[in-house]
Amino acid sequence: MKVLLKRILLGFVAGSTGMALAAGAPRSGKSLTQFDAKIDALLAKMTVEEKVGQMTQVTIDVVSRGADGREEPHQLDRAKLEKAILEYHVGSILNVGPSAYTLPHWLEVITAIQDVAKKTRLGIPILYGIDAIHGATYTLGSTLFPQSIGQAATWNPEAVRRIGEVTAYEVRASGIPWNFNPVLDIGRQPLWPRLWETFGEDVFLAKALGAAYIQGQMGENVAARDRIAPCLKHYAAYSMPLNGKDRTPAWIDERMMREYILPTFQAGVEAGAPTVMANSGEICGIPGHANEHLLTDVLKKEWGFEGFIVSDWQDIERLHTRDHVAETPKEAVRIAVMAGIDMSMIPLDLSFYDLLLELVKEKAVPMSRIDDAVRRILRVKYAVGLFDNAYPDRSLQSGFASKEFTEFNRNVAQESITLLKNAAGVLPLKKGTRVLVTGPTANMLSVLNGGWTITWQGDEESLYPKEKPTILKAIETKVGAENVTYVPGTSFDAPLDVAAAAAAAEKADCIIACLGERAYCETQGNVDDLTLDEAQLRLVEALAETGKPIVLVLAEGRPRLIHRILGKVDAILMAYLPGIEGGRAVADILFGDAVPSGRLPVTYPKFPNSLATYDCKWVQVLEGNSYDPEFPFGFGLSYTTFSYSDLTLSGESMPMDGSVTVRVTVKNTGPVAGKEVVQLYVSDLYRSVTPPVRELKGFRKVDLAPGESTTVEFTLTAGDLSFIGRENTRVTEKGTFRVAIESLTGEFAIR
Ligand code: BGC
Repeated sequence: MKVLLKRILLGFVAGSTGMALAAGAPRSGKSLTQFDAKIDALLAKMTVEEKVGQMTQVTIDVVSRGADGREEPHQLDRAKLEKAILEYHVGSILNVGPSAYTLPHWLEVITAIQDVAKKTRLGIPILYGIDAIHGATYTLGSTLFPQSIGQAATWNPEAVRRIGEVTAYEVRASGIPWNFNPVLDIGRQPLWPRLWETFGEDVFLAKALGAAYIQGQMGENVAARDRIAPCLKHYAAYSMPLNGKDRTPAWIDERMMREYILPTFQAGVEAGAPTVMANSGEICGIPGHANEHLLTDVLKKEWGFEGFIVSDWQDIERLHTRDHVAETPKEAVRIAVMAGIDMSMIPLDLSFYDLLLELVKEKAVPMSRIDDAVRRILRVKYAVGLFDNAYPDRSLQSGFASKEFTEFNRNVAQESITLLKNAAGVLPLKKGTRVLVTGPTANMLSVLNGGWTITWQGDEESLYPKEKPTILKAIETKVGAENVTYVPGTSFDAPLDVAAAAAAAEKADCIIACLGERAYCETQGNVDDLTLDEAQLRLVEALAETGKPIVLVLAEGRPRLIHRILGKVDAILMAYLPGIEGGRAVADILFGDAVPSGRLPVTYPKFPNSLATYDCKWVQVLEGNSYDPEFPFGFGLSYTTFSYSDLTLSGESMPMDGSVTVRVTVKNTGPVAGKEVVQLYVSDLYRSVTPPVRELKGFRKVDLAPGESTTVEFTLTAGDLSFIGRENTRVTEKGTFRVAIESLTGEFAIR
């Protein structure tokens, strides 16, 4: 008998709560204090001006040609650069002007900057930072992956680790050692316009993927030529604005903070991330940049974070201009630095330097705080190897955007796409099917990539690489243009030629309606209503009149409500923001060249006023309430089917210091090979703080051939069953726990 090869792809197995990393993975790099002897010597030589300069970060516009530094084509302005670095001792520069640079231009820019830094009295190199959010987003031609929400939908930590690695390679190839990513904000507020930058709503999943990404970026040694330093952001609770609008107040108490918001960041610190960016919003009336409790007491003291905290864009100044907690810009600087901010992303002028210098001279900010901040910054400069060689490694150019990276990217994009509906097995489509392709996301690349792509908003369609296919072009290539009719039908929010689309549908076998959101980033992406735009819903309603099968493809950064048209479509593919290979990946899934295996990393809501997460409380499912989303967290279909059997527990009870092993058998019962995400949920039946109905405590993605089965095992310890108790500390209480995998359940007790 032929022995079937079991391909257990990878797993994230439940472990103790303190365990932040994917099973057995090492912490990236050694303690940052290893450089302290050298730093002591350097600090002893530094003037107060040089120290304050190290804490100052400006955007590249400040040192570039043109009145606003944005003259095109971009050129550094030698005089401005020398002023910033030689007179103001600036320690860090960030980002790009209006749009991404070519790789050769980056090498020129970084070389010129480090040349000037070399001329300073102590020759301290510049730490350049960039928002490489889903790949090297500001280097033209780079490998642009699915945005984090799509990465999370793979439920595949190994793939996410590799994304971190490839991104690190291409960012370092651009001469840059520091990335303002990953976003470890937890994505529990679907209205928030940055949801797509997160790893979704679940703490366990986001911790696993965040740690994997960090390991990929840093490797064993972040100074290596192809590794970079990540920056965890936005610490903390930026993602939780009560009303969903970007940078508006969050109201979260200490217990909820420690239960839902802080664990991903703590996991990131434990994984070795050397920098953290502060929250641009406010919690319970305290702006993120004035929150000494979170910045200093929790992050630096309680967790022992040895790296530095950078402010977010202009957010120190905003303590005065926006938040009204500082009467003057100078007071804003004092509050932020004393709260624990080590570096100011000013970023458009040099005011921070002048103000902080005055404060130090007046003794309103003690020298000890300055020394602490500079020590932390220098540790990172040493850690990434800048003191050994601050210049770009030109040998990395040859591997940039390699064929291998592109293929991997296409596979990841396929693996992220989530099949939410497939009535009567309409998908996959046969290659000879005559299709009408329609809708606003059908023929654009920007909608597949979203913000932080080439430009900040990612919406400059003309700047996208012409050789990369949109969904439409990828379908045409796959099945032949003669089988494809394209009628746009509607823009995002206004009808174009709906009647023409309906007429074309009459002649097609199947309609592929590509809907979703235009590219956006940050506050520009605020919405007043999570419902998909009226014009798009109407397009589907008009097409449904034809009676032809409709496949909905959603390219969107957050789950826009589609309840009104749910019954009118036969299949739904959630593509999220699948990146530069997204067009091809969607076509691969539509026509069966890839089998979908994505699972929702967020709840897909049904109604605007029912935005509960899956791990809601009992009161949210009882007494007239219900968790009744359009599609639940963790959901996703395949072109094959899986069955579960033999859920067993190693015992009925365990002591506090013991463990319970949960085993389950999963079998591919369908016609094709496919990947399944085995998900372990646990319910703590009674405890002193209201328990969630259930929580994810383990998952593993397995790849099974038709007929093949495998046994998956999870081990639970008391730490995995802990929660933030009444005293705001982590506790585990004795009692009964229910485990569930698919529809199988079991119970055990801690005695
Ligand atoms: C964003 C950060 C980003 C920074 C630098 C801010 O507006 O909130 O996420 O890293 O700009 O571009």
